[in-house]
Amino acid sequence: MILIRRGKEPKSLLQYRKSDQEACYEELPPKPREDIRRQMWEEQKGLCAYCMCKIKAPEDVRIEHYSARNPKSGMYNAANTLDYKGMLGVCYGNSFYPGVKEEDKTCDAHRGNTPLTVDPRDIHSIRKIHYTADGYITSDDKKIRTDVEKTLNLNCKASSLPENRKNVLIQAKHEIRKMCGDRSHDTYLAVLEKVYKRYIEQKLFTPYCGIVISWLEKQLSKNQIK
Ligand SMILES: [Zn+2]
Repeated sequence: MILIRRGKEPKSLLQYRKSDQEACYEELPPKPREDIRRQMWEEQKGLCAYCMCKIKAPEDVRIEHYSARNPKSGMYNAANTLDYKGMLGVCYGNSFYPGVKEEDKTCDAHRGNTPLTVDPRDIHSIRKIHYTADGYITSDDKKIRTDVEKTLNLNCKASSLPENRKNVLIQAKHEIRKMCGDRSHDTYLAVLEKVYKRYIEQKLFTPYCGIVISWLEKQLSKNQIK
């Protein structure tokens, strides 16, 4: 997961909210729906908010509500369903395939209405996510571990998620080595810092780069302690 910062809501969504007292997500017209998809796709650099796979085009974005629209508690609030800041752009998590098994679904398609603790809009919860060298996602925090491993099924093998993450990390390490050449440890640290800034300051997010960011943070904090 990477940190997602929502911008201002699309104008068409604002207009719809103001035009109808009973406005709700279920009745949302096509235009604001399309604008929400496009804006989230741009803000998230075309990546799924949960699994970080590439979403090819804005029309392929599934609109996810971080707080379920129909929670088990039955506390439905129509205005909340149109709160742009509560929306996430996610992939279809294999749900398009007919007869797909539950264990092969990911992200929102696997989550359903289960509440989450981990939140892609909150840096503190993202920092609690860890990755193994094999590309598996996990956490020391029990609730977040349940979120990523079980509720969102982010180690789904049918989607090759661990393998994809592992390969992205291998590729990133390879590139960092190439950038360093045979030079000193200080050069290595400077390169790590440069690559880290690319992600954090320039927001050059690429599919599954969460594992690389996490690895860089570990390397840099380790070296600062020394
Ligand atoms: Zn996804």
